[in-house]
Amino acid sequence: MAERKQWKWADDPSLNKMELTKLEKDGLDVIETIINTYSKEGFASIEPSDMDRFKWAGIYQQRPKDGHFMMRVRIPGGIMTSEQARVLAKIAQDYGRDLVDVTTRQAVQFHWLTVDTFPDIFERLAAAGLSSFEACGDCPRQIMGNPLAGIDPHEVLDTRPIVAELEKFFLLNRDFSNLPRKYKMSVSANIYNAAHAQINDLAFTPAKKNIAGEEVIGFHVWVGGGLSAKPYLAKQLDVFVRPEEVVKVAAGVTTLFRDFGYRQKRTHARLKFLVADWGPEKFKEELIKLVGELETSGEDLTKGWNGGYFYGLHEQRQPGYYYAGLSVPVGRMNAAELIELARLADEYGDGTIGTCNTQNVLIRHIAKEKVAAFREEPLIVNRFKLKPDTFVGYAVSCTGTEYCNLALVETKERMRLLAQYLDEHIELDTPLRIHMIGCPNSCGQRQIADIGLQGIKVKTPEGMVEAFDVHVGGTLEVPQFNRKLNARVTVDRLGAFLVQLITFYKEERLEGEEYWRYV
Ligand code: SF4
Repeated sequence: MAERKQWKWADDPSLNKMELTKLEKDGLDVIETIINTYSKEGFASIEPSDMDRFKWAGIYQQRPKDGHFMMRVRIPGGIMTSEQARVLAKIAQDYGRDLVDVTTRQAVQFHWLTVDTFPDIFERLAAAGLSSFEACGDCPRQIMGNPLAGIDPHEVLDTRPIVAELEKFFLLNRDFSNLPRKYKMSVSANIYNAAHAQINDLAFTPAKKNIAGEEVIGFHVWVGGGLSAKPYLAKQLDVFVRPEEVVKVAAGVTTLFRDFGYRQKRTHARLKFLVADWGPEKFKEELIKLVGELETSGEDLTKGWNGGYFYGLHEQRQPGYYYAGLSVPVGRMNAAELIELARLADEYGDGTIGTCNTQNVLIRHIAKEKVAAFREEPLIVNRFKLKPDTFVGYAVSCTGTEYCNLALVETKERMRLLAQYLDEHIELDTPLRIHMIGCPNSCGQRQIADIGLQGIKVKTPEGMVEAFDVHVGGTLEVPQFNRKLNARVTVDRLGAFLVQLITFYKEERLEGEEYWRYV
């Protein structure tokens, strides 16, 4: 076990219970305990306080807490190799009942794992250059990025080396393993905001600045975004950061969160609350005290928002090469499908696979002469389509009651079937993004959806039933969260209600209007 840190908040009498758990034993120490003790002595031997710390290993208990676990694996920047994909698929086959989920933060999730399998899984992941560590917990989690980095005609800089540096700096770094709450970063130089900058605790977006007569491409910096029950859009700091300064600035922002973030209430601990209280000016002042002077902001290079969607075959930055954006309905696949994706990446592409925050995937770097054959591959024709149906293609869902202990309602399969139903009942010539979540934590990012469905239980004469609050008009184009309609819809009426709602939208939308942007 590593030497315990002397944190300056340690004597604060108002700390919440989880803070005391973290002070007693660092979250990262649980990894060793899992390997040496719990994996051998079994589920019943797990101390309740350590069960809370399992998150630092990237593990949560799966509903109904009967000895099965969910594990999240980091895919930094949303790019993995075909070999890594095969390792993930094999883990799912051996231990995870064949199930692989792509998350809204470009990570991969397994279900059905048992504690005895963790040492082997940790070893397999490490050998493949992957990790589940700190994919959950009060620490720097999966770093979101542009899954097209390096090949993207719409990026101004290849962000892969920056994401790799950040991952190296933060992963298992005990200076940052005890933050007040979860902490989410994104780095993208795509001019269509591929990494959803405004909903991250810390985000770097593309910018340029003339410095001493030289045009420098770098980043603008956003802090304090996040969803859950009290969603906030990140605020921009008046700084310009050169690519080589990103790690330093990220370390500075994370240090401010660690040392000044709130640790009294779990519901008031994210960086967004500190940023809301301080304001971006004071935040910048405090940051500069830590990292030294920074340039003031330059020219923003973000031109809009692509929603995180890349469907179809598109030309890359490299002439003669294409990337393929594929639809994975609600982000769920089986191990054989992931292995098949790995084969396609090797045979047609450069052996890399992109994961998108819309729970979809990309095959990167397909030579022009291979495009026709690629289109005919059975996996592409029948399952992960280049041009999915309107609603299936733009449906996102969190985990829901199937596996999540916090869920109030079932989501994933319901969203998949609902999207199919809408495709059968409405024709729409533009995408309409529907996100479904099972509780206010909003892992499915319902606030940024055109239609956001948030699960709730309601009392009816027949007893408690599952229902959804309906929100419309979310977007990061001109950023705004969606707004709640005065409509709580029980699940039996949800399909018919949405048909009516979308038909109304179809009839009333403005010329050229694509999304519910202007409600
Ligand atoms: Fe679970 Fe709620 Fe997150 Fe859905 S939004 S996965 S129900 S915590």
